Amino acid sequence: MQRFDDEIRIKGLKIFAYHGVFESEKRKGQNFLVDITLKLPLKKAGLSDDLKDTVSYAEVCEFALSKFSEKSFDLIEAAADTLARSILLKFSLCDAVSVEVYKPEAPIEAEFENVSVNITREWHEAIISVGSNIGEGPAQITAAKDIFAGFEGIELLMEASLITTKPYGYTDQPDFTNGMWKIRTYLTPFELLERISETEQSLKRERKIHWGPRTIDLDIIYYDDLVMASEELTIPHRDMQNREFVLEPLKEIAPDLRHPVSGLTAEEMLCKLK
Ligand code: ATP
Ligand code: CA
Ligand code: CA
Repeated sequence: MQRFDDEIRIKGLKIFAYHGVFESEKRKGQNFLVDITLKLPLKKAGLSDDLKDTVSYAEVCEFALSKFSEKSFDLIEAAADTLARSILLKFSLCDAVSVEVYKPEAPIEAEFENVSVNITREWHEAIISVGSNIGEGPAQITAAKDIFAGFEGIELLMEASLITTKPYGYTDQPDFTNGMWKIRTYLTPFELLERISETEQSLKRERKIHWGPRTIDLDIIYYDDLVMASEELTIPHRDMQNREFVLEPLKEIAPDLRHPVSGLTAEEMLCKLK
């Protein structure tokens, strides 16, 4: 995602809440201090001088006050994480949010100035390819979209037109319907893979034959410009450059995006393939 250096910072927001491992902390409560840093593009607001082009820090403070104290957590890690995620979801102009939670009255048997945890959550852009060749392809893909884009932390930005393609690899099976989604997500690649697997399971995906017929198959093609290879997860998808059914929809929804290793656009990869 395009990143900006502009920030809005809120420092030392005092919030009374009931976080802590000890029963007495949950019962009596204590004061916490919270720093919130929002990363967002501020150029437009700088020129327009209009509140609607930025995020209102007053609203963020009000939101943080109620969110941070509405539930009691054992750990300030969890309290900070929950606050950071909910700010990202609520204030959609923000690209990233850092939350630092200080616990000056923490039960520690020593003299100390402060303890704190700092958590950053940010939006990433990912490309997901989707295919189906059992049942009604378009209906399966719509069902998958509703499940997948319904998870917290996944938002659909754009979708490619559906195409019908001949099976790849194992060819003795029905034609496929293929689609592609551009999403934004604050999930990590592995968390995204878990949501994929949950989506496939809800639509009764079974793994019998490698590259065989399936009600639904979701693959991560890109995740920002991340390059990673592990047994469970390879990003960019390791075979994408050899698949017309990936490159055609990619060309439609992300014509300018370049493969982080080869530097090629979808169209350039298609040319090589043909
Ligand atoms: P292909 O990955 O060649 O398209 P497939 O989609 O039919 O084949 P699956 O059975 O759906 O293969 O997936 C096998 C495993 O691939 C998954 O369990 C997952 O751990 C792993 N995997 C590796 N890289 C990715 C990726 N980029 N997206 C999705 N799964 C991946
Ligand atoms: Ca696949
Ligand atoms: Ca897959």
